Amino acid sequence: MTDPVVPPIPLSLRHLPTQGELIVPWITPRTADGRDLFGSVDRDRMGRALLNRWCGVCGRPLEHRAVLLMRLSDLPRRCSSEPALHPWCAEYTSKACPMVAGRLEHYRSAPPRLDTNMLSAPDAAARQGAAAEPWFAVWLAGYRVITDHGNLAASYADTGWLRIRPVTWRHLNIL
Ligand SMILES: [Zn+2]
Repeated sequence: MTDPVVPPIPLSLRHLPTQGELIVPWITPRTADGRDLFGSVDRDRMGRALLNRWCGVCGRPLEHRAVLLMRLSDLPRRCSSEPALHPWCAEYTSKACPMVAGRLEHYRSAPPRLDTNMLSAPDAAARQGAAAEPWFAVWLAGYRVITDHGNLAASYADTGWLRIRPVTWRHLNIL
């Protein structure tokens, strides 16, 4: 399926590889045969990003504000196993990623083929074929690293959030 939306690549992301004019996030795994698995995460890089407070998109240290891109159903747990992002990297992702941007109506119905060092989203099996959800940008001044369902996660349960903004709510005609 082709996705016609190709946002301009910010200068801060020009060091990353691209595929189809979209940048490949630092955390996206590449298989031994050269496929970039958008939507999956490199297990080693996920842990390093969470523990070192690096951005999951550009791989560089976070600054005084970080953004977690989260699904509606994940908000009550106030944590995400996907690393926090620079605000500008979250902005790019919210346009470039077809799922976050609300351009897909359903999750993929079959899991991608992963190498052993890769991790699908912890609840990927439950999401297969499910209707897409609204996404939110959760702005944080900081987070605590916890273990959630056996995976490291960035939690703001103790630290609180600065603001929570809908990314895709309006596209889904829920309001
Ligand atoms: Zn970044």
